Amino acid sequence: MEITAIYPGTFDPITVGHMDVAERVSGMFDHIVLAIARNPSKKPFFTLEERTELATEILKPLSNVTVIPFDGLLVNVAAEAKASVIVRGLRAVSDFDYEMQIAGMNRKLNSDIETVFIAAAQEYAFLSSSIVREIASHQGDVSEFVHPMVLDAFKRKLG
Ligand code: ADP
Repeated sequence: MEITAIYPGTFDPITVGHMDVAERVSGMFDHIVLAIARNPSKKPFFTLEERTELATEILKPLSNVTVIPFDGLLVNVAAEAKASVIVRGLRAVSDFDYEMQIAGMNRKLNSDIETVFIAAAQEYAFLSSSIVREIASHQGDVSEFVHPMVLDAFKRKLG
């Protein structure tokens, strides 16, 4: 049986930490759907379309990874995509409480879908999209943390 895993997030923007998780899980499951949440409550810097386009282009070398935008409940999108696994990255203890709460709730909503946590690579454990946005907005160098396409996108948006 082929297994599809969904890797959800805001990806505002996609970082090398996300890319590392996508690459690692692409070797663990048959298909990966990287699902980008509109997430208006987070007031994303990049639009849903921009975030989706960047992730799609950047992840093209991973042939079993598909990028989709989504609105609404993750478990519904996961069921539509026929995903039986939700992948989330864990960086530090600070991620743990929130992630456990969401995983528990998703399990209540749909017990056929398992949440799997992937430990962040040590070199990316400090890396988050919000830190990247903060540095970029102050003209700092984020080239180590994001793909060159994301650097260009920041340049275009920040002027
Ligand atoms: P969300 O708003 O859902 O937290 P993010 O785009 O910030 O979305 O993150 C998506 C997923 O990727 C989360 O599971 C997060 O823990 C994980 N993640 C983010 N940054 C890293 C990183 N540097 N290494 C590993 N996983 C990460």
